[in-house]
Amino acid sequence: AKRQGRGCVRLFDESMDESIRFRRQIETGLSEAIAKGELKLVFQPIVGRDLNIAGFEALIRWCSPEYGMVPPAMFIPIAEDSNLIHELGDWVIDEALAALKSWPRQYVSVNFSPRQFRRHNFVGHVVERVASAGVDPGRFQIEITETAIFDNAERAAEILFKLRQMGFRIALDDFGTGYSSLYNIRRFALDCLKIDRSFVDGMGRERESAAIVHSVIHLGRALGMEVVAEGVETAAQLEALRVAGCSHMQGFHLSRPVDAEEALLLAENGSLA
Ligand code: C2E
Ligand code: CA
Ligand code: CA
Ligand code: CA
Repeated sequence: AKRQGRGCVRLFDESMDESIRFRRQIETGLSEAIAKGELKLVFQPIVGRDLNIAGFEALIRWCSPEYGMVPPAMFIPIAEDSNLIHELGDWVIDEALAALKSWPRQYVSVNFSPRQFRRHNFVGHVVERVASAGVDPGRFQIEITETAIFDNAERAAEILFKLRQMGFRIALDDFGTGYSSLYNIRRFALDCLKIDRSFVDGMGRERESAAIVHSVIHLGRALGMEVVAEGVETAAQLEALRVAGCSHMQGFHLSRPVDAEEALLLAENGSLA
């Protein structure tokens, strides 16, 4: 039994080493990926009820010659544990702005991790980049999750207020999955609520999900916010959301994320219909 115990400990230690080594490798690879041009942005249309394209969400991709396509869910948390998230985030902002400049009227919606949001002088930093690109802040949407707000609501309120004053759009991402959702809505000036795709997914199966989706749509409407249903994968979901009065939709059924070239064509066309 003793030996078995030791074996377990050793196994555990080795797998810890393994995962730490793996994280280091990803970290090193990622820090070089920007310079090597291995990162790119793809853009997923966000459409209104008549399928006109209101904006695009920018989503990062890492095409590593060593690891292949690394999904953001794998490397963003690692970047977030180091200072890399700032460099990465700045690259995303600049790249999103570059794409936006050729679109006729759509907005770009950029994901910000909690750590970026808490950065010293976050507002000044974003304002400067958007201004130097000559872009109207009203076409730049900042997507944050409730986690970004959670541990310092006082400061978050101040930052969001300033950003709104400068004309930026603010969206609350993955809405419904965080803590104290309704409290956040009351307290913070927001332009857009993004209903998490787990609710959209559950709509056709569970009364609970359908009821939540309906309530969020009504709440958003009553407060003059844009409500985006995320993860629309079927025609039936699209129809149900339309019937429920949802103003905006996003998901594979409408369009997968596309590269910058294709996004430009879609933007110029103006509609997915
Ligand atoms: P998110 O912000 O919730 O982004 C939506 C994710 O859902 C994207 O995954 C998108 O490709 C995927 N998606 C869109 N429509 C559908 C659908 O109909 N069905 C399903 N099953 N999925 C759909 P992706 O691109 O893998 O991104 C995953 C997460 O990584 C994002 O979740 C976001 O949290 C993070 N992320 C992506 N790009 C960035 C970035 O530039 N900066 C930061 N900080 N985070 C990013
Ligand atoms: Ca998002
Ligand atoms: Ca989301
Ligand atoms: Ca998410």
